[in-house]
Amino acid sequence: GPVARLLSPWTGLPLWKQIFIALVLGLGLGILLNQTGRADIAADIKPLGDLFIRAIKMLIVPLVFVSLVTGVASLDNLSRLGRLSLKTLGLYLGMTAVAITIGLGLAALFQPGVGIDLGSAAGVEVREAPTAVETLLGLVPTNAVEAFAEGNVLQIIVFAILFGLSITLVGEKARPVRVFFESAAEIIYRMTSIVIAFTPYGVFALMAWVAGTYGLAMLAPLAKVIAIVYLGCIVHAVVVYGGLLRFVARLNPVRYFQGSVEPIMLAFTSTSSSGTLPVTMMAAEQNLGVKRSVSSFVLPLGATINMDGTALYQGVCALFIAQAYGVDLGMTEYVTIIMTATLGSIGTAGVPGAGLIMLSLVLTSVGLPLEGVAIIAGIDRVLDMARTGLNVAGDCAVSCLVAKSEKALDEEVFNTPHVMRSTL
Ligand code: ASP
Repeated sequence: GPVARLLSPWTGLPLWKQIFIALVLGLGLGILLNQTGRADIAADIKPLGDLFIRAIKMLIVPLVFVSLVTGVASLDNLSRLGRLSLKTLGLYLGMTAVAITIGLGLAALFQPGVGIDLGSAAGVEVREAPTAVETLLGLVPTNAVEAFAEGNVLQIIVFAILFGLSITLVGEKARPVRVFFESAAEIIYRMTSIVIAFTPYGVFALMAWVAGTYGLAMLAPLAKVIAIVYLGCIVHAVVVYGGLLRFVARLNPVRYFQGSVEPIMLAFTSTSSSGTLPVTMMAAEQNLGVKRSVSSFVLPLGATINMDGTALYQGVCALFIAQAYGVDLGMTEYVTIIMTATLGSIGTAGVPGAGLIMLSLVLTSVGLPLEGVAIIAGIDRVLDMARTGLNVAGDCAVSCLVAKSEKALDEEVFNTPHVMRSTL
C-alpha cells in the first residue's frame, strides 16, 4: 500500500545501515537534549530501549540451549568437540592477555593519570575473586531447571553438550528428539530474527538516553582515559583480530568487520555482550558463514568468558589510578595485573558495568587504592560501550578462526558482505 511505499526508503535499507543511522540520530538527539537541559526527555525515551533489550534477553536461554544441542548432535565425531573446546579456550585466554598488555602499554605511553588529583572518594566495596575450584564446580548445575531459570549460560552449555552428545550416542532411538530440536531451532531462529528487526529502534533509544544523560561536559576531566580505552580497543581489533584473520586464517579482515558490525553496534549501545548474544549468533551464521556446530558453542561461551575489551580497560584504569596516586608499579605488579584481569574476565558476566566491579579485584591484587573505582564510575558507561563492543568483536573473530580451522566456515557467505536483513 501507500504507507509501505512511503516507508520503503527506510525499510529497504540493510539492517546494518538502519542500526547505524539510528545510532547517529540517537546520539544527536541525546546531545541536543543534554545541551538544552532536557535530560529528562532522554530518560523518558529509555524504556523503549529497555523493551528491546528485554525481548532479546528473552531469547538467550532457549537460543543457546536449542542451537547448542543441535550443533553438538550434528558433529560427526566426538573428538572434534574436544579439539574445538581447546582451541576456543586457548584463543580466548591468549587474546585477553594480549588485550590487557595493550591497555597497560598505552597507559604507560600516554600517562593519563599523571598530574591528576583524585582526592578521596566514597567507599568502595571489594569483590572477592572466586577460586579456580569454585569456578570449575560452578560449571555443573545441581539442578538443570534452576540453571535455565537463572539463565546461567555456562551451566546451560554444560547441560546442552551432554544432552547433544547423548543424542548422538543413543542413535536411532533418539531420532524423534533430534528432529524435534532441529525444528525447534528453526522456530527460535525465526523468533530471533523478528526481534532483531527492532534493533534500530532499541539502539536509537539507548543512544539518546546515554548521550542525554552524560552529555559532553561530564566526560572532559577523564577525556584522556576515554581516548586511550577507545584507541586501545581499535588497535586490538585491527592488529590482533585483523592480523590473526589475515595471516593465520587467510581470511579478509574487512569482510570480518562488515559481517560483525550489527552485533558490535548493539554491544556498543547496550553494553551487554550477553544481551547481544542472539544478534551475534545470527550474524556469525548469516554474515560470516560460521556453521552452527561451531557458532553455537564458541559464541555463548565467548559472551560469558571472553572479555578482551574489559581486560584492556582494566589495564588502562589500573595504571591510570597508579599514576594519579603516584604509585610505582614494577614488573611483578604488571604480571599480577595481567593474570588477575585475564582470570577475572572469565568470572565477569557480560552485563552492563560488570567490568567496573572486577576492577576492584585487579586494584586489590596489586594494592592500589580502591577509591580509584569511584572516580572511574562516573564515566564508566562510556568506557563500557567501547569495551563491550570489543568483547563481542573478539567473540566473532574467534568464531571465524575456529570455524576456518575446523573446516566449518562457508567462505562464500563470509565473502558476501551484509547478508543480514531486517525481516519480520
Ligand atoms: N559490559 C561488558 C560486557 O557485557 C562487561 C563489562 O562491564 O566489562 O561485555
